[in-house]
Amino acid sequence: MSKDYHYDYLVIGSGIAGLSAALQLSKHGKTAIISKASIHESATNLAQGGIAAAMTKTDTPDYHFEDTLKAGDGLCDEKAVKFLVEEGPERVRELIALGANFDKVDGDYDFTKEAAHSKRRILHVGDSTGKEIKKTLGNAVLNEALTTFFPSTFVKELIIQNGECVGCVAIRNHTPIHFYAKSSIIATGGCGQIFSKSTNPSIATGDGIAIAYRAGCKVQDMEFVQFHPTTLALGDKKPISIFLITEAIRGEGAILRNINGDRFMLDYHPDAELAPRDVVARSIYQESQKTKNHVYLDLSPITQELSKRFPTIYERCMESGIDITREFIPVSPAAHYFMGGVQTNEKGQTNIPRLYAAGETASLGLHGANRLASNSLLDGLVFGHASALNMIKENEQPIIQDALIIKAPKSNKNTTSKIRAARHTIKSIMWRNVSIIRNKKDLNTARQGLDDLSWLLDITTIDDKILEVQNMLTVSQLIVKSALQREESRGAHFREDFPKKNPAWKKRTIL
Ligand SMILES: Cc1cc2nc3c(=O)[nH]c(=O)nc-3n(C[C@H](O)[C@H](O)[C@H](O)COP(=O)(O)OP(=O)(O)OC[C@H]3O[C@@H](n4cnc5c(N)ncnc54)[C@H](O)[C@@H]3O)c2cc1C
Repeated sequence: MSKDYHYDYLVIGSGIAGLSAALQLSKHGKTAIISKASIHESATNLAQGGIAAAMTKTDTPDYHFEDTLKAGDGLCDEKAVKFLVEEGPERVRELIALGANFDKVDGDYDFTKEAAHSKRRILHVGDSTGKEIKKTLGNAVLNEALTTFFPSTFVKELIIQNGECVGCVAIRNHTPIHFYAKSSIIATGGCGQIFSKSTNPSIATGDGIAIAYRAGCKVQDMEFVQFHPTTLALGDKKPISIFLITEAIRGEGAILRNINGDRFMLDYHPDAELAPRDVVARSIYQESQKTKNHVYLDLSPITQELSKRFPTIYERCMESGIDITREFIPVSPAAHYFMGGVQTNEKGQTNIPRLYAAGETASLGLHGANRLASNSLLDGLVFGHASALNMIKENEQPIIQDALIIKAPKSNKNTTSKIRAARHTIKSIMWRNVSIIRNKKDLNTARQGLDDLSWLLDITTIDDKILEVQNMLTVSQLIVKSALQREESRGAHFREDFPKKNPAWKKRTIL
C-alpha cells in the first residue's frame, strides 16, 4: 500500500540549499522537507573552512567576481557569478541575524583567506562552519508552523504528469509514499561517494542528479569533479569519507612538503600553496608519483594557536596519533566537490516545469570548470533562496491525475552481496580511471567497466541501498561520457592526452 501526501512545496534534501529554500517556502505554504538521513548528515554539516562573501571595507563584489571567474577557467556563467557575489553579503547578513555566530577578533568578524581569493573574505566558525550554519537554518526552518520534516525518507523518483513535475515517490519504512505539490526543488547534494577516496558524507551518492536525469532533465558540466588537495592520508585504512584538512590552513600559512621534507609547490605554480585547487591537487599527485609516497602539511608557519583556530582538525589528528602542534600532517587528494549537475538558470528552474534544483546537485555554470574555495556554501544559500522566491510565484495548483500505482518490486533475494560488490566496483573504477589525471584509454576502460554493471539498472526495487547504487552508476556513466567528449584540459578536468586548453571547447557539455 502506498500513501499520498499533498503539500504546496516539496524540498528534497536538508543541507544548506534545501534549508535556505525551505526558510522562504514555509512562510508561504505547507512545505515538506524530505531527507534520506537525519538533518545532521550532509556535506553542509561537514563544511570546515567557511563561507565567502565580499563584506569588508577593502573588498567588493567585483573582486569576488574576478576571483570566481579566474578559478572557473573560462567556463563560468558570468550572470550567475554576478548574482552570487552581489546577493551573497545580504544572504549572509540574514544568516547572522538568525543567530549564526561567526568568529570575531576584537569585535570584528575574523575574515580568513583561502586559495585563489585575492582578499580575506571567508567567515568561519573555527573549522566547523557548516555545523553552525545547519544549526542556525535548521532551527529557523523547523520552527515554522507550515514545515513538516521527513527524515529517513528516500526519494526514489519524480512524478511527471503532462510534462510537469507534480511531486515525487519516496520510500519510508519500506513503504512507498507519493508526495504531491505545486512545485518541488531538488537539493540532494553531490556525488563524491562514487569515488573510492572522497571527503563527502555517505549520503553523497548523486541521487538527485540521477533521478532528475531519468525524469528528463538536462545535466551539464558532468566532467568537472573537484579533488581536494589535502585530506588526511592514513595508509591503507579506507573510511567511508576521508577527513578533510581545510584549505584555510594553507591560507593561514601552512606549507606542503614532500616525503623528503622539501617544499615543492613553488616548482609547480608561482602562487605555491595558494594556487587554484586543481593545480595543488595535481601537483601533490605528481610529487607523490615521483617519491612513491604521500606529502606533508607543515603547520609550523601558522602563528595562531592551532587547537583554538582549527579545533576539529586538531582533535581528529590527535585521535590518529598526530600532534599538529609538533608534527607534519600526511595528506593526499580525494574527490570533494561536483561542479556539474542538473542544468538550472539563476531562478533555479530546470527544463521541467515546476521542478527546481539548487546547491551541489544543480549546475548553472556558476563554478565553471573549477569552484573557488568557500563559494559552495554561498551558492546553496543564495540559489536556494532565489529558487524559493520563484517557486512562490508559481501559484497555481497543477492538475494531478490519479495516484500512480507503484509496481511490485521483483524479488531481490541474494542480491545484497552482489550490490555491495557493485558499489565497490563503481568506486574503484571511478578512482582508478576518472580522477585527477585522465586519458582516453582509462576513460574507455571506465566506460566498459560501468557498462558491464548495466544489469543493476534493470532491478525494480524499493530497497534504498540498491536505488543508491543505481544512481551512482547513472551519474558515473554521465561523468565518463562528458569526460570523453571534452578533449582538452580545463580546470579540474585534466586529460594527459590533451594537456592544453582548447578554445574550441569553451562551451558546456550538456547531456
Ligand atoms: C568535508 C567537506 C568540507 C567542506 N568545506 C566547505 C567549506 O568550508 N566551504 C564551502 O563553501 N563548501 C565546503 N564544502 C562543500 C559544501 O559543504 C557543499 O557543497 C554544500 O554543503 C552542499 O550543500 P547542499 O545543500 O547542496 O547538499 P548537502 O549539504 O550535501 O545536503 C544534501 C541533502 O540531500 C539529502 N538527500 C540526498 N539524496 C537524497 C534522496 N535520494 N532522498 C532524500 N534526500 C536525499 C541528504 O540526506 C541531505 O540532507 C565542503 C564539503 C565537504 C564534504
